[in-house]
Amino acid sequence: MTALLEVAGLVKHFPMRGGAVRAVDGVSFTLDRGETLSLVGESGCGKSTVGRCVLRLLRPTAGQVTLAGQRIDTLPERRLRPLRRHMQVVFQDPFSSLDPRQRVVDAIGEPLRNFGLASGAALRARVAGLLDQVGLPAAAMDRLPHEFSGGQRQRIGIARALAPGPDLLICDEAVSALDVSVKAQIVNLLMGLQARLGLALLFISHDLAIVEHLTHRVAVMYLGRIVETADRAALFAAPRHPYTRALLSAVPVPDPLAARNRTVLRGDVPSPRSPPPGCRFHTRCPAAFDRCRTEEPVPRQVGPGHIAACHLEA
Ligand code: SF4
Repeated sequence: MTALLEVAGLVKHFPMRGGAVRAVDGVSFTLDRGETLSLVGESGCGKSTVGRCVLRLLRPTAGQVTLAGQRIDTLPERRLRPLRRHMQVVFQDPFSSLDPRQRVVDAIGEPLRNFGLASGAALRARVAGLLDQVGLPAAAMDRLPHEFSGGQRQRIGIARALAPGPDLLICDEAVSALDVSVKAQIVNLLMGLQARLGLALLFISHDLAIVEHLTHRVAVMYLGRIVETADRAALFAAPRHPYTRALLSAVPVPDPLAARNRTVLRGDVPSPRSPPPGCRFHTRCPAAFDRCRTEEPVPRQVGPGHIAACHLEA
């Protein structure tokens, strides 16, 4: 089966005086229809930049992005436009992603109108159907965003993203700003929609507890690179990269008496303007040894569909 989304050697550098911020520095992954891949890592690791490059909100510096067999990273905007309906995004902040003066029918109906998919009474009927899909009543369409709670606003954001009938939904920290109980409801909504609509979900998040609940596969990013990729079960039960182990050891457990070997990472994430030589993680890795400081580890297969970039796996 051909993947719906293929990202190969993606690079995004932001030039600045005296150098460049190397936000994404050679990222590759695939995503199938109906699959969820979570891109995880600390803030500043480049995961949101990857999402923005896939959506072509940013133009990649190098590499390839292929959607349903068509390369989109180099397409001129005019030819990209009709393809945009196939990939939609839900952002973190439902407060700022909705225009406060725009009624819900106009917010959700905008992409329907823009892509020439519906107008007039048909558009209102489509919006009512989309509201129903996200668990809101049809009467919500004539109200303004401030009349809704944060969770309801995120439901409106999801309905808007679903409006043009995408194949790929990118959720960029889409539940991070929500309260715990609301977060769970939105995650369940996303999982239900994915199962029903066969969506591919690229779920960008720093929250591994949420990721474990909803994902099929995980790609862990550190300083612009993917350091480990695996199925959910393998990654959470037997992580191979020291950075993944450290991230997992920091996830809160429901039972405070449960034993856990916590790995506390030393120091801050180095600047993406000048990533450390050798393994980029060596300045914080509890297992680092001499070779790590000079030689960059090559990603290797360490199990079925499980890849890690660490000299300890060589
Ligand atoms: Fe740690 Fe070395 Fe492995 Fe990098 S290559 S993760 S520094 S042990």
